[in-house]
Amino acid sequence: AAFSSTPDATRPNQKTHQVMVGNVPLGGGAPVVVQSMLNAQADSVEENLAQIQRLADAGCEVVRMAIPRRNCLDTFQAVCEASPLPVVADVHFDATIAIEAARRGAAKLRINPGNIGGLAKTDAVLDAAGEAGIPIRIGVNAGSLDQQLAARSYLTLPQKLAASARQYVEYCEGRGFHDLVVSAKAHDVMATVRTYRQLAHDIPHIPLHIGITEAGTTFQGVIKSASGLGILLEQGIGDTMRISLTDDPVTEMRACWTLLGALDLRRRNPELISCPTCGRCQVNLIGLANEVEQRISGLNKPLKVAVMGCVVNGPGEAADADIGVACGKGAGIVFRHGKTVRKVEESAIVDALMEEIKEL
Ligand code: SF4
Repeated sequence: AAFSSTPDATRPNQKTHQVMVGNVPLGGGAPVVVQSMLNAQADSVEENLAQIQRLADAGCEVVRMAIPRRNCLDTFQAVCEASPLPVVADVHFDATIAIEAARRGAAKLRINPGNIGGLAKTDAVLDAAGEAGIPIRIGVNAGSLDQQLAARSYLTLPQKLAASARQYVEYCEGRGFHDLVVSAKAHDVMATVRTYRQLAHDIPHIPLHIGITEAGTTFQGVIKSASGLGILLEQGIGDTMRISLTDDPVTEMRACWTLLGALDLRRRNPELISCPTCGRCQVNLIGLANEVEQRISGLNKPLKVAVMGCVVNGPGEAADADIGVACGKGAGIVFRHGKTVRKVEESAIVDALMEEIKEL
């Protein structure tokens, strides 16, 4: 509720049902939920809680925690009890850990039925989640496809991934468990896009967790994720998202919110409008823009802030900015909604902008 969202944020073309992850509604027309995964050591309560707090401050709404060993369950429970965000248990290979996590405070389980030990083990996990009243994300993965399905050479990878997810959904629903979310990820952007389009067609009622897996370090990862998730979100596909980066998970938050803002789905942070500079520019605009970006990055206001290199295209080009500066020779004109409010020396531009932002 702390975040503003445009009416469009509630318009997935895909009509999914809604599940609750703790107190966060997911699917069914709810705004796209922003999530990340902890990478602190799985046996440290303090480190995980500290990371959760940093993520929450940066706009994370749901957080996932790996439980790699049974002896990490006590840590997981303690984290769930103190966490300000709902915590999803991420479990591979050992169904008994998933069952135990459901009993110890997980807000959702994330399992890959392909590696959890067969359908009998899946049944026990469904029962545990049902008793705890929590949803399950079925995370299908290119690397752990059912052998029979993987051998069907007439199917493309997206078709195989979607078919695998559909089979598991049908199995769970057949057992009376409907509290499902699905993901089916590949590291190839277009394979992922095609897979999710297929899923939206095949299981249109199931909320989808979208992301490009193993997208890489920040620069490549942001571009791969933004291109793939941008296509899907624009088509109304995706109820929750993660931008996976080989970086501090807090960086993932900045990427998620910037993407949602660019798509006009949800806004939380200021947006910087800055020109690329050209021969007319007579200040160190690249330095100024970077400093402004850094100083506004902690603000939880969906403002548009413009930093323009000259008056030729300055206030006019950035007229829809809430606040901005158009620079001249060693100086800048600060404007609000296109109207000049003051003129300052180059060295005072950033401070002047920040003062005006505070007043807004
Ligand atoms: Fe060049 Fe001015 Fe446009 Fe910046 S705003 S690119 S300096 S014309």
